[in-house]
Amino acid sequence: MAAVAVFAFTALYIADRELARSPALALLRYGLWAVGGATLIALTLALVHERRLTRRVAERSAELERLSAELLRANRAKSEFLANVSHELRTPLNAIVGFVDLLRDGVYGELQPRQVGPVQRIEASALHLRHLVDQVLDLAKMTAGRMEVHTEHLDLRPFVLDVATEVEPLANERGLTVSMAIPASLPRLRTDPSHVRQILLNLLSNAVKYTTDGGIAVKGRVVSGEDAAPPSLPPDGIWVALSVSDTGIGIAAADCERIFDEFEQVNAGPRGDSVRRGTGLGLSISRRLARLIGGEITVESEVGRGSTFTVWLPVDPVDAKAALLRASGQVAAILR
Ligand code: ADP
Repeated sequence: MAAVAVFAFTALYIADRELARSPALALLRYGLWAVGGATLIALTLALVHERRLTRRVAERSAELERLSAELLRANRAKSEFLANVSHELRTPLNAIVGFVDLLRDGVYGELQPRQVGPVQRIEASALHLRHLVDQVLDLAKMTAGRMEVHTEHLDLRPFVLDVATEVEPLANERGLTVSMAIPASLPRLRTDPSHVRQILLNLLSNAVKYTTDGGIAVKGRVVSGEDAAPPSLPPDGIWVALSVSDTGIGIAAADCERIFDEFEQVNAGPRGDSVRRGTGLGLSISRRLARLIGGEITVESEVGRGSTFTVWLPVDPVDAKAALLRASGQVAAILR
């Protein structure tokens, strides 16, 4: 702006010298000086204003930086506090669960018939509380960036069958069928099995929890970039899409995203029902875990008809190729 002022002033000076040669143009000369003077004052005021604005922006930026650092510090302190408290809660909770187990098994003498119910209630509540504490601990770890990933080779078919056996008794109890379609030709995964197990268990137990009639189907398929992988994943990747479908209550389209937020529940069971009540943390943790191992979780659902949750697990191109070769029998041909 100072350069503009200097330039304008020089132009004014040159014009004035030209006009000064003719006395008849004196009026024009004075007018020119008046306009020049007013422009100079306006430019000076604009310059002062601009300086003031720049200073204010710098002050605001410094304040924002300070606030953001404070927020980060507070968030870290919250996560550490949660992690410590959860850790401290686990020990006595484990003791309660253990002793209730012994009580129920009659180690301290046969329970009276009227004592069985309350002991079962104590056990269910303690297990629910321990599950909640475990989930809060997981969430705190992930927020603090302290959740580790231990990658191993994973053969999906036996793995899924093994995880499914954990929820089968509960599904049978509720009269639900469990079907499995995991082709043996699926590529081997390089991933953290404990994280995949946690995700799958959560999806399966939700499917059981929110279904009263019908059944649950687990399917696995390979999806490459050109097919329908979710947009949040790299388009050139290869994925194993592992889906858990149920014929349960379903989820309204408007709720399909918010159920992945922490403590969001759409159809929480009654407070006393610790089986259906849930915590509202399972899906949030599952999605974070899926992203931690380079994948994603998506959902498709229709109210009253059921839901399909899909976990997308990345496949190494080498493993994808090996699986293809295996499937087409070329490996046998090469070995011969
Ligand atoms: P919760 O412990 O409440 O099950 P989640 O985070 O696992 O917590 O699930 C969040 C919410 O998503 C649930 O409260 C429920 O409303 C909805 N939800 C999850 N899975 C299903 C499903 N298979 N069918 C219908 N609703 C589901």
